Amino acid sequence: MDRKCVIIGAGLGGLSCGAILARHGFEVTVLEQERKVGGCLQTFVREGVKFETGMHFIGSAARGEILDTMLRFIGIRDGLVLHALDRDCYDIINYKGQDFPFRNGREAFVEGLSQYFPGSRDSLAAYIETVYRVSDALSVESFNPERGLDAHDSEWHRRSVNSVIDELIEERDLREVLVGNQPLYAGVRGSTPFALHAFTTSFYNRSAWRIEGGSDRIAALLEKCIIDAGGEVMTRCRAVEIVCNETRATGVKYICGGVSQTIEADTVISTAHPSISIGMVKSPLLRPVFRKRIEDMPDTIGVFELYLKFKQGKVPYMNSNRFVYRGGTVWDSEYYTNSNWPLSFLYMHQYPQFDANYADAGVILAYMRMDELSRWSDTVTGRRGKEYEEFKRVKAATLIEAASDCLPELKDGLERYWTSTPLTYRDYTGTRNGSLYGIAKDVKLGAAGRVSFRTRVPNLFLAGQSVNSHGILGVLMGSFVVCDNLLGSGVMYEGIRSSIL
Ligand SMILES: Cc1cc2nc3c(=O)[nH]c(=O)nc-3n(C[C@H](O)[C@H](O)[C@H](O)COP(=O)(O)OP(=O)(O)OC[C@H]3O[C@@H](n4cnc5c(N)ncnc54)[C@H](O)[C@@H]3O)c2cc1C
Repeated sequence: MDRKCVIIGAGLGGLSCGAILARHGFEVTVLEQERKVGGCLQTFVREGVKFETGMHFIGSAARGEILDTMLRFIGIRDGLVLHALDRDCYDIINYKGQDFPFRNGREAFVEGLSQYFPGSRDSLAAYIETVYRVSDALSVESFNPERGLDAHDSEWHRRSVNSVIDELIEERDLREVLVGNQPLYAGVRGSTPFALHAFTTSFYNRSAWRIEGGSDRIAALLEKCIIDAGGEVMTRCRAVEIVCNETRATGVKYICGGVSQTIEADTVISTAHPSISIGMVKSPLLRPVFRKRIEDMPDTIGVFELYLKFKQGKVPYMNSNRFVYRGGTVWDSEYYTNSNWPLSFLYMHQYPQFDANYADAGVILAYMRMDELSRWSDTVTGRRGKEYEEFKRVKAATLIEAASDCLPELKDGLERYWTSTPLTYRDYTGTRNGSLYGIAKDVKLGAAGRVSFRTRVPNLFLAGQSVNSHGILGVLMGSFVVCDNLLGSGVMYEGIRSSIL
């Protein structure tokens, strides 16, 4: 059997495909353009404090839940130490100056919000039932060769979040509160499919967790799986071409240490942004109309991120995520102006490194459009000049000021901060436009808005956040689909089923 597999990108998508395939006998080589593996799982250390740059919390990781099962199947669950967020308020939506906590579990979720919206108890129950019903389509059964479920082909993928919620919920403020977690999928009114909201909401509603030591633990464990199974992960190696003959891909050309080389492959998986992956294929097997469709797909918005270092013992650890809205709606924060930015932000603490009672690090994320940064689009990290530094300083001051209104601990507790913009993400993860989650799902585009994992080059597959969905669950599902296709005969289904405890 032809088993040489080259994977482009060592983020969650590439590393998880690599770990699964290496364990199942594939000869895996992962090419990563950066110095470090991880993509959005990368962390950095400043003044002794570690900061997560992308993934900050995960869901459904209690024993037997879907992520727990997937991580066990891959073989990394035992290497992770997870800490549950507060079950009475894993997310807090601050809307019109009031806090609305989300509680874990369907009944508790309904019970909690009914205290604020007593007249909507029944519609809340109908809402959460719908959310769970939609998300249940995404289960281990998706890999059952007998069932052949297509979780993408339902009305919930064709209808927007707001259209479904407006139908289920009468009270206007409750409609807003229910989508208060939308930065987790970069929701856009009238565009984002309800299914994406349902997957995200139920994923964290079942259980929500922070990762002790930071999200780069996941990348390190996956890399180890690949190496232990005889595979290879090569950093500072940028793939530049997926080499094809008349019928298929034959290898990948890459640049490592300034030297151009080609590695042969029976199978190629690219987890780079799809427009970048497709751009690397010179073959006429990919038709111009397909290339244009991928090129024209919209990206999710990016973020300005503030990395906060707190004074020791000053800021009690907040075991929740706070989503703060400063306008009259939770929607449309991406349409800010210079004078009203930020219309919303997300504030989180990282799991403490030193003392479980006090936070040593936190982050604040606020949407930022790439058009604000167009002046610096040709520059690279660390060399963008004084004007850019000043731009970031002003943005940081504005964000801290806005956040201090409802987070008084920032005034006394903040020791130092660092910042990043969508340009930083573009440069460190290779994502187009520095987008948060890659290509945006848009109900208005129908099937044309979806990227398939298969291409017309029969042995070239696409994985990563733009293909299935983003986040730990979306990306792993996408990797599982690709690996299922390569391993065949229900291998994945049997393996996953036996990982359920
Ligand atoms: C700010 C932020 C917060 C987030 N928070 C959460 C969260 O709390 N929970 C959650 O579940 N998800 C979260 N996410 C989403 C999640 O982190 C991502 O969806 C996921 O990690 C993406 O994995 P990926 O492999 O698809 O892409 P990436 O992580 O972007 O990895 C792609 C890799 O490919 C490499 N690459 C690209 N082009 C090439 C090339 N030509 N040659 C070689 N290498 C190449 C890149 O350098 C990169 O390492 C967050 C994301 C962001 C940005």
